[in-house]
Amino acid sequence: MSDIKDKDLAAFMKGVIRRNPGEPEFHQAVHEVAMDIIPYIRDNDRIKKMRILERMTEPDRIISFRVIWEDDAGNIRVNRGYRVQQNNAIGPYKGGIRFHPTVTQSVLKFLAFEQVFKNSLTGLPLGGGKGGADFNPKGKSDREIMRFCQAFMTELSKYIGPNTDVPAGDIGVGGREVGYMFGQYKRLTDRFEGVLTGKGIEFGGSNIRPEATGYGVVYMMVDMLATKNDTIKGKTCAVSGSGNVAQFCAEKLIDLGAKVISMSDSGGTIYVPDGMTRENLDWVMDLKNVRGGRMSECVDGFGAKYYDGNRPWALKCDLAFPCATQNEIEAPDARALVKNGCMAISEGANMPSDPDAIDIIRDSPIMHAPSKAANAGGVAVSGLEMSQNSLRMSWSREEVDTHLKKIINTIHSQCVAKGKRADGSVDYFKGANIAGFDKVANAMLAYGAL
Ligand code: NDP
Repeated sequence: MSDIKDKDLAAFMKGVIRRNPGEPEFHQAVHEVAMDIIPYIRDNDRIKKMRILERMTEPDRIISFRVIWEDDAGNIRVNRGYRVQQNNAIGPYKGGIRFHPTVTQSVLKFLAFEQVFKNSLTGLPLGGGKGGADFNPKGKSDREIMRFCQAFMTELSKYIGPNTDVPAGDIGVGGREVGYMFGQYKRLTDRFEGVLTGKGIEFGGSNIRPEATGYGVVYMMVDMLATKNDTIKGKTCAVSGSGNVAQFCAEKLIDLGAKVISMSDSGGTIYVPDGMTRENLDWVMDLKNVRGGRMSECVDGFGAKYYDGNRPWALKCDLAFPCATQNEIEAPDARALVKNGCMAISEGANMPSDPDAIDIIRDSPIMHAPSKAANAGGVAVSGLEMSQNSLRMSWSREEVDTHLKKIINTIHSQCVAKGKRADGSVDYFKGANIAGFDKVANAMLAYGAL
């Protein structure tokens, strides 16, 4: 970040880095937004005087706590849990919980910061937050996962509520973990209320919530291609990851007649040159969701090719869907995508492209939808789950899917409206940043200085 040319941006980032030492992921997320917002507010004295951007980079509060649990062998284990309540200018804090050994305060601050803009883009009344723990669910028994979730919620329950802060899932937290946490919240408070989203359908969950992020990523791609009078049918698609987002992204792509040639996990990547069939995907879903296996097993499972290394970006593809984790597209990956003629990228994971990769892609003809726009379908349907809980109603799959498509379509239109370049092409990053910023900034201005 030492070579920033814009003086205002350089000074702003210097302050962010000084106030948040040792938090590279947070610096990166702020920089990605500030590079568009600082020029945008340069002549807006009111926003500058009220220090809106500075205030947005400072979380309302960060709660950090000890999580003690007992493993199956009777050993006492200690982890660290967090909730970053970033900004509630336009609604209660909303954002997922991540259980992964790489979780740090910096990672959760980057995710919470991004979440504010993403939630704003959905058009729903949702503020931004994120939480998690450095707990590794891999290799743990079901009972260990349950004890951890209960211990985590015992502390977290003091800080959340249906009108205060409504967490959901993320990496390492799916329907099972949300169920254990919701059960513990109910046990502790005696209240049955919409305090978590991603719940089971039997106890207040929404139809399509598990599918929503992955489906939304594909709907964003459909909208981008439509600007070129093109469709997804027959396109060769590289997908990374094999978790919740990747699985339903692949499902929707196959449904729409695309050719899904890859999926991956942290061990390696499968390559299926002719495209995965629905049966292949069902096999992967069972492997990952039921048997807890590794993608390498797909070689024996259905004859996939497999290579070590968790990135498929060197494979020739028309469309790319990074759905694993942050910074999984770096400069060499971006160059490979450009060289191979990739047309568009829709980001399923949060901040999957690093700054060098973004620059390379920006200078190419590739259409590039940032995560805060492309993967907003998950939180959007979480918002719809909150509405259904408040109304004591449950909407059908078709109703929720229609809402989801409409929300993604509106996000796409906002990106186009705010990100159109002089030559008619669209800078989706700029469009998403400015559209997400405007709504939150206007609410903060309305509340006055304190
Ligand atoms: P899951 O835990 O279901 O799956 C995560 C996937 O990413 C797995 O395939 C995992 O492989 C892989 N992965 C995790 N860490 C790494 C790593 N360091 N290197 C390579 N691969 C890795 O998570 P989700 O699918 O829910 O989340 C994926 C991404 O999507 C995250 O960035 C998340 O923040 C984002 N997201 C998720 C939403 C949701 O609704 N679930 C909503 C919006 C964004 P392995 O099994 O080997 O660990």
